[in-house]
Amino acid sequence: MSPNSGGAAMGKKTLKPRQKKEQTISRALIPNAAARPEEEKEESGNPASAASHSPDSPLSLSPIDRAIRLKAESAPSGTPALHSPPIPEPCGSCGVKCCNRFAVPITGFDILRILEKLGGEPTEFCELADARTIEGSPHSRVFIFDKGVMGERLLVLKRHPKTNWCHFSRHSMGCAIWGYHPLVCRSYPFILKDGKLAYTKNYVCPRNWEKGEYDEERVRKTVEAQNSEIEDYNRLVRAWNAERARKSDEKGFWKHLLEKSRERLPELDV
Ligand code: SF4
Ligand code: SF4
Repeated sequence: MSPNSGGAAMGKKTLKPRQKKEQTISRALIPNAAARPEEEKEESGNPASAASHSPDSPLSLSPIDRAIRLKAESAPSGTPALHSPPIPEPCGSCGVKCCNRFAVPITGFDILRILEKLGGEPTEFCELADARTIEGSPHSRVFIFDKGVMGERLLVLKRHPKTNWCHFSRHSMGCAIWGYHPLVCRSYPFILKDGKLAYTKNYVCPRNWEKGEYDEERVRKTVEAQNSEIEDYNRLVRAWNAERARKSDEKGFWKHLLEKSRERLPELDV
């Protein structure tokens, strides 16, 4: 997603292109919305969320369906439940490529903002992917001790196993969690280089971003907030790796992540 559309990924290397390996992870973002085609419902349904809740509970729905319901409930009566603003140019005509081509690394702060709206469990919409399949992310790798082996993982949004689109993507209709989508989604494809906003041209984003095509001030604030949250996130991951990874397991990491992120959750002004 773009800085204009309010979504975004990161620099070229942050949201990393999918690699041709079986355990590969990759792909990313989109904006906009309304009613959801039947085939999408099947594709994005998440058995993890449906399994342990009564059919009447909102938590019996997948996270994307909860997000869609939330938007529908909050839309003024008689208006369509738009999930995100209409996709502005230059993103409108690009097909929002950055939402389906990359792994989207996130932080515990992103997760808390999503959970605040949707409830449920982080493992419904994100996962600890094999870090060997994702290069160039500034997010620290998480050590997970599993069956006697220490593995390195990267915290990313889940993607649909068949289409590789982000779990929250509504394709041309936008992002279902617009407004509380991850910071990395909001800043792509911009980074700060030597204190200046820089456009990280890569093969996914086809645009040459010119001044005036985006709100420079807002994008700068977003990238700064993102960098600061990544630093905090990396600190708590390093603490986990050094002190707890050997004595615990993946379940222990999720607990550590949410507890420590809650202690430092910043106010977001972007
Ligand atoms: S959360 Fe997913 S659909 Fe939304 S902007 Fe990010 S990658 Fe795209
Ligand atoms: S790939 Fe580039 S032009 Fe397309 S939606 Fe993403 S930021 Fe916008």
